[in-house]
Amino acid sequence: MKKLLAGAAVLLLGAGVILFLLSAGTAIELEPAVKVVGVETPVIVRLTNPHGVRRFSASLEQDGARQTVYVEEYPATRFLFWRKNEAPRTVRFAAGKKQFAALKDGKARLILEAQSNDFRGAATRVAIDVEVVTRPPSVAADGFQHYITHGGSELVVFTVSGYWTEAGVRVGKYTFRSFPLPGDPSKRFSLFAFPWDVPADTVPLVYARDPAGNEASARFWFKLFPKPFRKRDLHLSDAFLEKVVNEIDPGGSGGLLERFLKINGEMRRANNQALADLRWKTEERMLWSGPFLQLANSKVEALFADTRNYIYQGKKVDEQTHLGFDLSVVKNVPVLAANDGKVIFAERLGIYGNCVVVDHGYALQSIYAHLNEIGVKPGDQVKKNQPLGRSGATGMAGGDHLHFSMQVDGVQVSPVEWWDGAWIRNRILSKLPESRP
Ligand SMILES: [Zn+2]
Repeated sequence: MKKLLAGAAVLLLGAGVILFLLSAGTAIELEPAVKVVGVETPVIVRLTNPHGVRRFSASLEQDGARQTVYVEEYPATRFLFWRKNEAPRTVRFAAGKKQFAALKDGKARLILEAQSNDFRGAATRVAIDVEVVTRPPSVAADGFQHYITHGGSELVVFTVSGYWTEAGVRVGKYTFRSFPLPGDPSKRFSLFAFPWDVPADTVPLVYARDPAGNEASARFWFKLFPKPFRKRDLHLSDAFLEKVVNEIDPGGSGGLLERFLKINGEMRRANNQALADLRWKTEERMLWSGPFLQLANSKVEALFADTRNYIYQGKKVDEQTHLGFDLSVVKNVPVLAANDGKVIFAERLGIYGNCVVVDHGYALQSIYAHLNEIGVKPGDQVKKNQPLGRSGATGMAGGDHLHFSMQVDGVQVSPVEWWDGAWIRNRILSKLPESRP
C-alpha cells in the first residue's frame, strides 16, 4: 500500500514537473513606446504567450507610492493549456493623473505585469521609466494682421513654452509644420495654406502638443477673402479617352470610360498624395528670393481649384478639382524653374505625366507637369529661369501645356500670390526678421 501511494506521489510530482516545465513566459511589448505620461495617456500593450494570459495589470509608481491603473483577468486554464496556441492579445488602457491623482510632473515608472495562463502561471514584469507631463505647453501668436485668400498662403510667427514635441498651424483637417524663426530662434514660424477644400468659416490656429496628448492652441488676427472657385465643363472625346488610357494605364481592363474614370479618380488621388508626401524632402532654409516666375508669354487655360465636370456623350460622368494652373504657349517650349531651389522629383507620375518638383525650402515647393522631356535629376540645384525640361502633353493632357502648381507643406496652393512681388514682401518677408525689406 505504502509503495503504491509513494508511486502515485512520484507520478503526480512528475506530472507537476512536466506541467511546470511546459509553462511559458509572456512577452510584453508597448506599441508605440511610451516615454511621457500625461493626464490620460493612451497605452497599447501587446501580450504574446502561446498559453494565453490569466491576468494583466498596469500600475504607475512615483516616490514610493504605487497605484494600479488597469487590470484585466481571464478564466484560468491550468491543464490542457499545452494544446493551446493563442494569438497575441492587444490591451488598451489609459494611464495618467486621472488614474493616479497624486501623480506629479517629473519622473515615474509604468509597471506592466502579466501572468501566464497555465499550471505554473509564470509572472512577467516590465518597468518603464516615464516622464510625467500634465501641464500642457503654451503657445502665443504674433500681433500681425493676417490677410488670407481661400486657397492661398500666409505666414504666422509664434512662441511656444513648456514641454512640447509638435508645433505649427492647424487649419481644419490640415496641419502645417513650424520652423525656428531665422534671426530670432526664440520664436517659430509656419508657412501655411488656407486649403481650397476647407470650409470658409474655419478658424486657423497655432498649436503645440506634447507626446502625452496635451495640446494648447491660440487664435491670431486674420481675415479670409473667400474665393468662389470656378466650375468648368470638360467634354471627353473617345480620342482623348484612348490617348489617356493607352498612355497612363496600357494594361488596364474594362471599358474605355471605366478605365478613364479609374485614372481620373483613384490614380489622381494617389498622384496627389505622392506630391504631398514630398513635403518631407525639404531644406530648413529659404532657397528662393523675389517673385516666382510664370511661364513667359503663357496663356492661362485653367485656374487653381477649378471644379471640372467631365461630360461624355452628353452626360456628366465625373467631377474633380483641378489643382494648378494650365499655361500654354506653343509646343515644346523650355520650362523654366520659377525660383531657385533643389530638384526633389523628376520622373513620370500618372496623370501628371513627366513631372518635376523643385523644393524652395521650408516645405515650399513648385510642380511642373506634362513635360515632353525632363532635363534635370533629383539633387540638382537650380536657379530661377534655368530650364527643367520642355513642355508637352504627357499624362492626362489634351494638348501641349505646362501644368504649374505650388505646395505649402504638402498642400497645393494658388501660385498667383507667389508670382506677385508685393504680396511676397507684405505677407511673407515682412514677418521674417532676416528678410524684412
Ligand atoms: Zn492642369
